[in-house]
Amino acid sequence: MSSALSTLCLHCGMCCDGTLFTQVPLKPGEAEALRRRGLPLGTREDGAGVLPQRCAALEGLCCTVYEERPEACRRYRCQLFTALAEGEVSLEEAKGVVDAAHARVDAVAAALGSAGDGRGSAMRQARVAAAGLELPSGTREALAHAEVYLDRHFRGRFRRSG
Ligand code: SF4
Ligand code: SF4
Repeated sequence: MSSALSTLCLHCGMCCDGTLFTQVPLKPGEAEALRRRGLPLGTREDGAGVLPQRCAALEGLCCTVYEERPEACRRYRCQLFTALAEGEVSLEEAKGVVDAAHARVDAVAAALGSAGDGRGSAMRQARVAAAGLELPSGTREALAHAEVYLDRHFRGRFRRSG
């Protein structure tokens, strides 16, 4: 990975911290190595293993199991990463998009009154709450605002797992 790309990802972390995804699908055989590293894993309805997000292997914005990370992590490239890799945006522009995404997610946390648990945690709480009836004032709007931006610049139509 070029230094610009790794600078971008170390500025972002949203594909590992629960902001973009709720889980990473595991291929047969991948769970054992991760379990040995002490990572808590889950199971899908079809029996396949998953790595819940926020990923327990994420320390700060670094993956602590980088050499053993699942194939889904190795393959994943968000839209912004691809745009930078292909020279469609500069590193500064890409970092600005990440900053704007962080600001939208922080607005969700603020509307929710969620302090200090991290961006992915705030998004998870807001998504769960949005499925129910009661949400603190402004949370549904802030969540919709954030999800649209995340879809446009990061997820597109591709969702790693859900
Ligand atoms: S969401 Fe994209 S830019 Fe952010 S860490 Fe993941 S691949 Fe990198
Ligand atoms: S294993 Fe590493 S790359 Fe994959 S979600 Fe966890 S922290 Fe991110």
